[in-house]
Amino acid sequence: MNDSADAITVKVYGGPGSPQGHAIRDFLYRMDVPFEWIEEGNRRLPVCVFPDGVRMENPTIRQITEKLGWFHDPLQSEYDVAIYGAGPAGLSAAVYGASEGLKTVVIERSALGGQAGSSPKIENYLGFPGGISGAELAERARDQATRFGAEILLAREGVRGEFSAGKRVGYLADGTKIVARAIVCATGVEYHHLPVPDEERFRGAGLYYGAGASEASLCGGAHVVVVGGGNSAGQAAFQFSRFARRVTMVVRGESLKSTLSAYLCDRIASARNIEVRTNTEVTGLEGDGCLEAVTLTSRVTGQTETIRTRWLFVCIGGTPHTEWAFEAGVARDSAGYLVTGPDLQHDGRPPDGWVLDRPPYYLETNVPGLFAAGDVRHGSVKRFASAVGEGAMAVTFVHRYLADG
Ligand SMILES: Cc1cc2nc3c(=O)[nH]c(=O)nc-3n(C[C@H](O)[C@H](O)[C@H](O)COP(=O)(O)OP(=O)(O)OC[C@H]3O[C@@H](n4cnc5c(N)ncnc54)[C@H](O)[C@@H]3O)c2cc1C
Repeated sequence: MNDSADAITVKVYGGPGSPQGHAIRDFLYRMDVPFEWIEEGNRRLPVCVFPDGVRMENPTIRQITEKLGWFHDPLQSEYDVAIYGAGPAGLSAAVYGASEGLKTVVIERSALGGQAGSSPKIENYLGFPGGISGAELAERARDQATRFGAEILLAREGVRGEFSAGKRVGYLADGTKIVARAIVCATGVEYHHLPVPDEERFRGAGLYYGAGASEASLCGGAHVVVVGGGNSAGQAAFQFSRFARRVTMVVRGESLKSTLSAYLCDRIASARNIEVRTNTEVTGLEGDGCLEAVTLTSRVTGQTETIRTRWLFVCIGGTPHTEWAFEAGVARDSAGYLVTGPDLQHDGRPPDGWVLDRPPYYLETNVPGLFAAGDVRHGSVKRFASAVGEGAMAVTFVHRYLADG
């Protein structure tokens, strides 16, 4: 993430299927920190050894962030704009906000890049014909945003908001208070969990959410199972097929064609070691500590089959991170997405409780000065480029809102 980090190779020692080990690998991968994973069969909890010799037993993400020198307190007592979430939408808002002279802070509960940070290769983003990894794109955006003066607070989670005239106060999980004149909520979505018994027991211990770009090279010679029929599942299957002996894609629908981009459909069809099981669901997980096998059930015949595997990647979409909004009176749709702009109006009338003479701006919620951008927004296009576009657009509306006085 910075020049000193470029030289860092963190050694991470851990046991196979360790959820803590996976969380650390995922974080380091997304933050572009070179690391070496050294698997030790009998080690229960992971240990990180840093180049200066410091050894940390089972560190939290916050402790690693601190060790790498990236954890800090807010530098200002008040900001023009506070952005929650450092995925593509939040990072884009940070670049535009800071470059246009706004005192800008970004609060991210985990690593940079959001969902895209786990994407091994984004191939449809303008200007990158050969594709680019989500982690690299996020790192470039971070560099750009901080050069313009944006502050990024990592490993901090926004949990509550208080919105009064002219002041937007966000409370973080560790008690830190962030005061800002406007807010951009770019908190994206949380993956849906696989609805099978014991899901929680295997989470991080063989069952992973997202494309698992940090894990791909560890699956050498293995049989990998990917659940989902959308682009993220397709990308994951293709990425794993380069390392794994065999990849099984488990798809509930009848075909991939309606849910997957044509280019990915073609690649999957031409990969010799990917098999696609349509009309099929994962119905069981087995293992002693770590995942050892999954049961697949045909939705047509009811027939079951057990696949022995240590690697199950689930990419079945998600729901938005907006629990805080309910408490703060921010309008959400029935699925929890934040409703903005024209979608708030009924028969041309502004939403209940709206006190301004103007209608809400396009990305503005029913709370003036609180904007939503990217996947968290009702009706958003779930694409990297759209999230980047909305982040930039949100900043334009922040300027207008601040100019309104
Ligand atoms: C595996 C995968 C591959 C994909 N590939 C492509 C592709 O090739 N092309 C494409 O166009 N799209 C792709 N997508 C979709 C694209 O990544 C998303 O549309 C995009 O990331 C949405 O960006 P966002 O900033 O709105 O949200 P997110 O990327 O979800 O980022 C939200 C961020 O907010 C943080 N956050 C959440 N709650 C809080 C809180 N309370 N406080 C602080 N921070 C919080 C999260 O940790 C996260 O970092 C892919 C998605 C996945 C999962």
